[in-house]
Amino acid sequence: MAAIDVHVSKGGSIVQGEVRADATAVAHCTLCAKEVEASVSLGPGAFACAACLRDRLDALSVARFRLRESRSGSLPWGKVTG
Ligand SMILES: [Zn+2]
Repeated sequence: MAAIDVHVSKGGSIVQGEVRADATAVAHCTLCAKEVEASVSLGPGAFACAACLRDRLDALSVARFRLRESRSGSLPWGKVTG
């Protein structure tokens, strides 16, 4: 698995596993477009803060529940196998 890059405001960054202290660093979240305490890379050029990640984890859980667990056996096209 590729290294997960992290930026920490007033702390520095870890890029490609290399720790770089930088008291003037500013972490930025691509998703909420704010300066944040810390952000983690999502992919090329995209970073997310903890709040945005939590929102997305919640969305995953809610979608999984709504689309599978709460509707199992009652899907209009019948049972989905697999
Ligand atoms: Zn964010």
